[in-house]
Amino acid sequence: MDLSTMPKGKPSVSLPLCLNCAEYVLDQAVPCPHCNHDPMKPGGRYKDDGFYARDALERLLDVMERAAKLQENVENKQE
Ligand SMILES: [Zn+2]
Repeated sequence: MDLSTMPKGKPSVSLPLCLNCAEYVLDQAVPCPHCNHDPMKPGGRYKDDGFYARDALERLLDVMERAAKLQENVENKQE
């Protein structure tokens, strides 16, 4: 199979979520095209459907992971 004739793929684009309706938006600086609210202000479906809690949990897990790595570095230096 000759793959050289196949179209080349492009890297996927990462889109932010509207913090009101939880739909993807292109630009968080302009009102959301889905709900017409400020995409940077949490509310509506974003809060009600647990996205807000999930974000908080992800941030918490990230901080815990970084703390564990720092602790590992400290322990390695002490040995
Ligand atoms: Zn929206």
